[in-house]
Amino acid sequence: MEEEKISELKDKLEREKALLEEELSTVGERDIQNPDDWVAAPAEMDTSESDPSEQADAYEAYGENVGILHNLEIRYKNVRSALTRMEEGTYGVCSVCGELIEKERLEANPAADTCVAHKDEEV
Ligand SMILES: [Zn+2]
Repeated sequence: MEEEKISELKDKLEREKALLEEELSTVGERDIQNPDDWVAAPAEMDTSESDPSEQADAYEAYGENVGILHNLEIRYKNVRSALTRMEEGTYGVCSVCGELIEKERLEANPAADTCVAHKDEEV
């Protein structure tokens, strides 16, 4: 792939990474031990109030955060590994068959690590 194309996709990935970090920080916080990892933020609970419905709400909000965070993290990891592959020079190669990934596919999803034929085998 042309350098120009790669740097264009890299820009896309960098922007998406920043966006994901922003979104991640709304539902979670960085793991202190492992700054590349995120943990769901506990819902703020007013412990002086023992209204059971409020507590239930807080638990529910936490559960939602865990779900949202999980999905964001998957995307975040894909974006970061795509950027790593760019650094290593292995970007744009299908991780299943080793063929070059279609340009159209990378334009639609710069974090893709499989070709169209192996789309469903993506990890
Ligand atoms: Zn493939």
